[in-house]
Amino acid sequence: MSAAASRKRPLVLVVDDDPTMRVLVAETLLPDGIEVVEAEGGPAAIAALRARTPDLVMLDVQMPGVDGFTVCEEIRALPGGADVPVVMMTGLEDVDSIRRAYEVGATDFVTKPLQWLILAHRVRYLLRASANLSELRRGRERLANAQRLARMGSWRVDLPSLAMHASEELLALNGLPPNTPVTMRNLMACVHPDDRAGLARAASECARGGPPLHSDHRVIHADGSERILHAEARLVLDSDGGAAAVEGTAQDVTERKRAEEQIRYLAYHDSLTGLGNRLLFKERLAMAVATARRNEWQAGVLFLDLDHFKRINDTLGHSVGDALLQGVADRLVASVRETDVVARDDIPSAVSRLGGDEFTILLEGIEDAQDLAKVARRILEALARPFHLSGHEVVISGSIGITAWPEDGDDAEVLLRNADTAMYHAKEEGRNNYQFYAQSMNAVALQRLILEGKLRRALERDEFEVHYQPKVVLATGAIAGLEALLRWRDPELGMVFPGDFIPIAEETGLIVPLSDWVARAVCRQLVAWRERGLRLVPIAVNLSAHQFRSGKLVDQLGAVLRETGVAPHLLEMEITESTLMQDEPRVVAALEALRAQGLRISIDDFGTGYSSLAYLRRLPVDTLKLDRSFVSNIAEDADDAALTAAIISMARALRLRVVAEGVETSAQRDLLRSFGCDEMQGYLVSRPVCAAEIEVLMLRGESGDQGDAES
Ligand code: C2E
Ligand code: MG
Ligand code: MG
Repeated sequence: MSAAASRKRPLVLVVDDDPTMRVLVAETLLPDGIEVVEAEGGPAAIAALRARTPDLVMLDVQMPGVDGFTVCEEIRALPGGADVPVVMMTGLEDVDSIRRAYEVGATDFVTKPLQWLILAHRVRYLLRASANLSELRRGRERLANAQRLARMGSWRVDLPSLAMHASEELLALNGLPPNTPVTMRNLMACVHPDDRAGLARAASECARGGPPLHSDHRVIHADGSERILHAEARLVLDSDGGAAAVEGTAQDVTERKRAEEQIRYLAYHDSLTGLGNRLLFKERLAMAVATARRNEWQAGVLFLDLDHFKRINDTLGHSVGDALLQGVADRLVASVRETDVVARDDIPSAVSRLGGDEFTILLEGIEDAQDLAKVARRILEALARPFHLSGHEVVISGSIGITAWPEDGDDAEVLLRNADTAMYHAKEEGRNNYQFYAQSMNAVALQRLILEGKLRRALERDEFEVHYQPKVVLATGAIAGLEALLRWRDPELGMVFPGDFIPIAEETGLIVPLSDWVARAVCRQLVAWRERGLRLVPIAVNLSAHQFRSGKLVDQLGAVLRETGVAPHLLEMEITESTLMQDEPRVVAALEALRAQGLRISIDDFGTGYSSLAYLRRLPVDTLKLDRSFVSNIAEDADDAALTAAIISMARALRLRVVAEGVETSAQRDLLRSFGCDEMQGYLVSRPVCAAEIEVLMLRGESGDQGDAES
């Protein structure tokens, strides 16, 4: 018997309407040191029970008024009454009573007339069993308490039945209400969707005899809060060595994890700006180099040092200096984020503060080292705007050194050191500029920069002009249309061709006003020709991908047409396959809107991209312009000729007009004609020429096919 039970005398409540019976029972039990309380009926029994919970109840079935079954049910419903052993006293052979007794929750029964010797034994046995049971219950409560305190739950899944048992705390840890059925499905539903598959995999490996499970996973509680659980599980074998069950524990480690994260954060970040520190930068750079090596792309480091920062600290004080560093950090993060060369989206930690007024920027996935110069320029521009710090307007600049992997160093250490060296060159070059570590890069970057500066002023200074190249009908030689091609006449550089400045215009966003200018110039030209009574043919204008991005293209072109009064069918838009692919839904929507307004659409440089004819058929397209690379070889290369012929016949079957680009020889022209090509454009007919020269060609009223361009 347990210690608790042996300390006090057990108490038995005897309920019987027969006083003789009660006395006999009491006398039988008293010699065993049992204390007996008597009740002559149901109400008295309930009252006695409420006053003091007995260790056992002897209950007569047949009593006047309330019978024993009802009393038993009432006992079971009392607080603490569920666990008290109840022994029913029934008539001999009364099988019905025995069955009812068990139904209402009796623990055992004895038959009347009672056999006194056996009764004493039976009561003693029941008392002992009950004491053991409550000890077990207390033990389980203590365990549950301990689990609650440790925020730990335990569980077991029997194999192969998959029946699951779990402690109450396990439900609480998973954010489930106490009476939720413990099933794998219910528990898995609590796991963060991103962690579910991994946990399930590890658990099933463990069940199949693989390594024991150790995992941290997130669970989401009903209120949406997220907790981190650490789970451990192992396979339990039966005596034959077969898998019997998987047993495991789960513990809430959220606070510990958060503390670890906090420590990690502090170790890797600069507390002033919240940026990564030198340690984090070095780690990320080493990772970036490994990734770049795998992907065969470049990675770059920009090393920025503020110019004359010390002066600000000395004159305006450290708090203004600190605020300036924070402001610089914000602008760096913003200018890196808006850079389209950066492919990753977790950019903020790519900007770090090494200490003092030194910052580093890591750029990954770079295709061209000039992209690094582009970011450097953007950063210098961002810094050039004045900072307003506690009533002071502070103007600052920076010097940037640039290194690129693999040219300027094979590992993180060297890249960083060389970037630092390059930064000193930038200081020597008069500050507020950037320098590549490799000197050859500086020349290219400088060119580019000069061009960019000039280009910005070219629009204001009216240095652009439009040249026109005719397209002629192959069958008749008549001019069917013109293509407008942009030219830039720089006072120092002379004539600059689109290949050299369109990419810069696109990068700087200048392409949008520039294209607007081209459309207006073309429309004005059409109006001028109309006024002079010349025959008008459609003019094609090239569109670049950037124009679709602004979302205003359709409205802008509509406005130009309205203002100049040019008929929409006189304007044709040329877009390349790659432009189409870059942002297909948006581009297609814009093309549809343009076509609805009456403009024509051509696919330029067809054959250089990956679009198929079948695909193009579904788009609002009138014309295919077959790329020069096909045309240039058809006279010499039978394969090219066959391919070109096939494209032309397929396009015509789809009712698309085909224009061959870059036709330079009469041999090419004759072949194209035999393939059934509709029109051609190229030096054979005319180079792109200024408007006045086109007029001459047009007035001549014929193709201007003056023989081979080579001759
Ligand atoms: P594109 O639209 O494919 O224009 C045809 C290019 O091929 C023109 O080069 C033209 O001069 C050249 N070409 C024409 N016939 C021949 C020939 O027989 N042989 C050879 N070798 N070349 C020939 P250009 O004028 O240098 O223009 C280059 C590209 O610049 C154009 O290719 C177009 O994509 C772009 N571009 C020109 N003007 C504009 C414009 O106003 N806006 C935009 N976004 N892009 C333009
Ligand atoms: Mg074109
Ligand atoms: Mg073309």
